[in-house]
Amino acid sequence: MNILITGGSGYIGSCTALKIIQKYKAKCIIIDKKESSNLEKLTLSYPQNIVFHKIDLCNYSALSVLFEEITREYKIDVVIHFAAYAIVAESEKYPHTYLQNNINSTVNLLDLMVKHNINNLIFSSSASVYGEAKYVPIDEDHPLEPQSFYALSKKVCEEIIQRYSKKGLNFINLRYFNPAGAIGYLGEEHNPETHLIPLLIKSLIEGGIFRIFGNDFPTKDGTCIRDFIHIEDLVDSHILSMEKLLNEEIENEVFNVGINQGHSVLEVVNKAIEIFKNKINPRFKYIFESRREGDVPILVAKAEKIKRKLGFKPKYNLEDILQSAWNYQIHKISL
Ligand code: UDP
Repeated sequence: MNILITGGSGYIGSCTALKIIQKYKAKCIIIDKKESSNLEKLTLSYPQNIVFHKIDLCNYSALSVLFEEITREYKIDVVIHFAAYAIVAESEKYPHTYLQNNINSTVNLLDLMVKHNINNLIFSSSASVYGEAKYVPIDEDHPLEPQSFYALSKKVCEEIIQRYSKKGLNFINLRYFNPAGAIGYLGEEHNPETHLIPLLIKSLIEGGIFRIFGNDFPTKDGTCIRDFIHIEDLVDSHILSMEKLLNEEIENEVFNVGINQGHSVLEVVNKAIEIFKNKINPRFKYIFESRREGDVPILVAKAEKIKRKLGFKPKYNLEDILQSAWNYQIHKISL
């Protein structure tokens, strides 16, 4: 089996490649404009299964040449498209960069997939496409009112993918809620890091100040509520999607990928303090700051459709997420 993974150097892409290799011994052809420590670890563990091409998906002519080369050698069964800029607040600052990068790369990829008769696509979309929730839990029919340029870029990509399905493409759009945690030695690494769980774990271990953005949201304790999903469960949703696409059991679907459990930011902080109590650096503290641009108060998935149509059964809870993220950070420090 040959799987083309864009953005396979990143957190979710590398974890997905790992699981696909372990389950199917598949060849993962990774295209990404960056290398990363996750990719390095993956390549060291599975040198026979990883083929890496460093390329910017926005460069259409270079990508065309690469597609010629790849398709001469491999029959690509499925494309999983992760590559994107993905920081909400940053997208507010640099809308042109976000729209241009996320949309152009997707259009280039789709065009070349169609040209080379590669028909199966899994796209990493985001729960942020819903915008401010009109009701919770949010189902897939909830109106799409993206609040940030990042969310807008994902919504536009979803629409473009829908159109391309008329050209023979079969797609599954996965709208991620809040993936976090680690799979052993592969964990969350962004530069700069902006996500709640890795920042919280780092300050618990290293003894820094953790900032909670906003305590005046219309939620039970004033902090934002999110549906945190363990990275291993999230990766599983891709594997299930892949199997359905390959068996031709599904056509052009959109799924929420969450676990239908909301936790406020303050609850996450308190849970981590409870779990790691004896091991927390005494210099750790948390403070409240003003809201971060682009954040919506609550995002919790109704995850019934993915359960029903893909047989998705998440295995992990918030405690597992925090524990795996802690183990990952500790392991990194001890290296
Ligand atoms: N958050 C926070 N402090 C941080 C990072 C994040 O309070 O240092 C909050 C953020 O405002 C949001 C929630 O945690 O309400 C989840 O943010 P994250 O960036 O992890 O994911 P997002 O929901 O933006 O995709």
